[in-house]
Amino acid sequence: MQNFYQAPTTAPQASGQIWQHKKSVVLDLMSKQAFLPKKCYKCNESGRERTKRFIWIPAWCYLFLLGGILLLLIPYLIFKKEVWVHYTVCQKHRTRHLINVTAAWLSFIGFFVAAAFELPILTLLLVVSMLVFLVLSMRALGIQKVKGDRVWINGTSPEFRQGLPPYQG
Ligand SMILES: [Zn+2]
Repeated sequence: MQNFYQAPTTAPQASGQIWQHKKSVVLDLMSKQAFLPKKCYKCNESGRERTKRFIWIPAWCYLFLLGGILLLLIPYLIFKKEVWVHYTVCQKHRTRHLINVTAAWLSFIGFFVAAAFELPILTLLLVVSMLVFLVLSMRALGIQKVKGDRVWINGTSPEFRQGLPPYQG
């Protein structure tokens, strides 16, 4: 039986270089694919391999937002980079991330409900909780920069980056 999940993992993983640079992991893209070491990106334990698709655009593109969301479409379409990150996460950190994301959404919805019922203290509490969980959930994997065929990935722990050679520009 053909296993469709087999394809990305059989790509030449070992051939690409990998470094650490400040708080990022730097690696070479192989046809838009980035392969992180097969250890949980938070605790370095073993876990399940996953793939996530990211779209990245240079930060200056967001200046176009000043002209309205539609104007952002132009640099977005020209400069966007697609990166498929293959990473590993253990059950504990997977669950923790899902809780953070869910809690952020629930606080967001709850905020509107509390505001509609004119409950000022609850409204304020939900704003705080929304911000806290939003910040927590943003500590997950993300693309910091794409330059040529090289990608800077943030959100990993110092334990995970330990042992990787330093990046020399
Ligand atoms: Zn973990």
